[in-house]
Amino acid sequence: MTDPTDRILDVAREAGRSAAAVCRAVLGEAPAAPEAMAKLGKEPVTVADYGSQAVILRAVQAAFPEHGVIAEEGAEHLRENAGDHGSQQIVRLVGQTIGEEVSFDQVCSWIDHDGSGGSEFTWSIDPIDGTKGFLRRQQFAVAIGILRHGKPYAGVLACPNLPLDPADPNGAKGLLYFAADGRGAWREPIDGGETKAVKVSPHQAASDVRVLGSVESAHGDPALVKAVIEDLGLSGGMVRIDSQVKYAVVAHGGAEVYLRPRSKPEYRENIWDHTAGVIVTLEAGGRVTDLDGKDLDFSLGKKLAENRGVLATNGAVHQQVLESLRRVEAAKA
Ligand code: AMP
Ligand code: MG
Repeated sequence: MTDPTDRILDVAREAGRSAAAVCRAVLGEAPAAPEAMAKLGKEPVTVADYGSQAVILRAVQAAFPEHGVIAEEGAEHLRENAGDHGSQQIVRLVGQTIGEEVSFDQVCSWIDHDGSGGSEFTWSIDPIDGTKGFLRRQQFAVAIGILRHGKPYAGVLACPNLPLDPADPNGAKGLLYFAADGRGAWREPIDGGETKAVKVSPHQAASDVRVLGSVESAHGDPALVKAVIEDLGLSGGMVRIDSQVKYAVVAHGGAEVYLRPRSKPEYRENIWDHTAGVIVTLEAGGRVTDLDGKDLDFSLGKKLAENRGVLATNGAVHQQVLESLRRVEAAKA
């Protein structure tokens, strides 16, 4: 059998670009914050989340109908909450993006496409990771991960608001990161341009180590992150960024640590919040485990049910951070 990796990456990259176009169109049409439809007891969700998932799964269904899919959104909620305005908007935006006339039912059926299940490949998709960042017009990512036999194998992170040049935060924005097992990690401007290899930074001196965490304090445990930073004497503090853009920043050497402790003991991470980011970081030369140093187990359905938090680093400082966590947590106990 021929190696399917090239085709998987091609389809995922193209889907990431289409999904980013949907997100940008929604932001472009919205005067302030895109209308958020409250999702009971969960994150806010917008027409862009559904439009993004529709274009991604349309592409996956066409290219790999037999692959499994685990994706964040479901069309039932869209049908219940979109109203006339929302359903017309999503039909128009999806149609515009793919260059075809589509019906609302067609959009809903793409959103709910979940494959046949028997394949070695499962797509793990967050159509907008960091919806709160999207609503604030800050960082968010279209996250398209592919598991092979339950392990991160390939992934795309489209980051429409990430500056091409970190030194020029007000300049051109929009980067797409991609990676596949054994092939390294890469990034390119979403709107076209040179594709470059992505590598983690070699820094390990305390004065050089930069730590990333969530903007939303409720998504983690900022006090624990602060205690680790103090324990290791890191001078940079914690820089807050929404979404899996944090993995992209570690992968390209813009930070050394992404530390995500559990927000509460019963919280289990969703696989779609990590699959794409993990493969991008690993292929850039980094390391990812949970807070006990265990590998993340993506084979248990929607959740990382057997893992406690997530630690992604440049590799060089991984052990140090794990040891610090042990000290800090023992002192607290
Ligand atoms: P971030 O932007 O890194 O804070 O992560 C965004 C993701 O956090 C969302 O996609 C949610 O799936 C996830 N999330 C929602 N509630 C929680 C929580 N209580 N603890 C941890 N993650 C959460
Ligand atoms: Mg998410």
